[in-house]
Amino acid sequence: MIAKTKLADLVSFLALCGKVVGPVPLGHGQFKFAEVRSLAEMALDYIPTILPPKKYFMPQYETLLRYDGADGQQMQAVVEVEELVLFGVHTCDLAGIQCLNVVFSDRPRDLHYMIRKNHITLIGLECSDYCDSYASCAMLRNHLPKGGYDLFFSELSDGYFVDIKTQKGEQLVEESGLFEPVSDAAREQLQELRRAKKQIFRSEVPIRYQDIPRLFDETFDSDVWTRIGEKCLSCGNCTNVCPTCYCFDVMDEPDLDLTRGRRIRVWDSCQHETFAKVAGDESFREQRSDRKRHRFNRKFRYPMKRYKRMFCTGCGRCSRSCMAKIDLKETLGALMEERG
Ligand code: SF4
Ligand code: SF4
Repeated sequence: MIAKTKLADLVSFLALCGKVVGPVPLGHGQFKFAEVRSLAEMALDYIPTILPPKKYFMPQYETLLRYDGADGQQMQAVVEVEELVLFGVHTCDLAGIQCLNVVFSDRPRDLHYMIRKNHITLIGLECSDYCDSYASCAMLRNHLPKGGYDLFFSELSDGYFVDIKTQKGEQLVEESGLFEPVSDAAREQLQELRRAKKQIFRSEVPIRYQDIPRLFDETFDSDVWTRIGEKCLSCGNCTNVCPTCYCFDVMDEPDLDLTRGRRIRVWDSCQHETFAKVAGDESFREQRSDRKRHRFNRKFRYPMKRYKRMFCTGCGRCSRSCMAKIDLKETLGALMEERG
């Protein structure tokens, strides 16, 4: 347990040890993860930030290596890494990070990602209130903590119940000297919080979790894809803000002397027409409807086969940020209606 009155001291302690990142308000009901020095800068009752914490695990723009062709072909791998504490991460975003962990630790392992991940301490924070109508975390079973953190905080009446998951978390608790043993009353309060959540967080679309992949299997030729394809602008917002979208492009950026330079990795999007274009100008997903269908299947159906999990956390960011108002829950509903 940690008393509410000691939370500010904890953040100050973490900030003395290194960089702390937490949810900060941007105005107009929007939030972002940014560096903080104190608790006062954060908004712990936030709805999902515009960009998920994936930006710290897989930066939008990253140098992979530097090369120098002046003396033969010399290459030096670069790993851009910094010690970081991510504070106040909700269960949906913890689930998103777990998806990225699964992908980047699959063979061939992505060492840039793996090294960076080991330098990030994750402190989760439980939502006790529902965020907004775009979210579907209960449908995807991500409204309760399922691991993937070092410490996890659940707010009770006068303190936070703290679940310690790793040795790193244990060390932090010991070194800060701010925590106290948990009481039976606090355990009972936590159970009460979880019982209350069952009523507040309900499956938002009337479909069982285990039936979702089959819905996409059975609606591959649905007109719903044509209809949302006509609305989609192919801007790629939905993939940029998605905590589990990890597609990237790799390219060389030569210096002006054209001898030295660096190889970079940047986020890419399956919603761009060029993404699936190959030699001879052939495109596998020429139509916007093809690309939208692909994205939905990449969230709910294909990863079940390879990773035995869905790659949608229910955070609602794609629907919240889509200029064409393409809504994930509405799309699921339309597919269900059409299938009958
Ligand atoms: S954010 Fe909306 S308009 Fe943009 S690519 Fe995604 S679905 Fe299409
Ligand atoms: S598909 Fe949409 S709701 Fe699902 S994880 Fe990505 S951004 Fe969140």
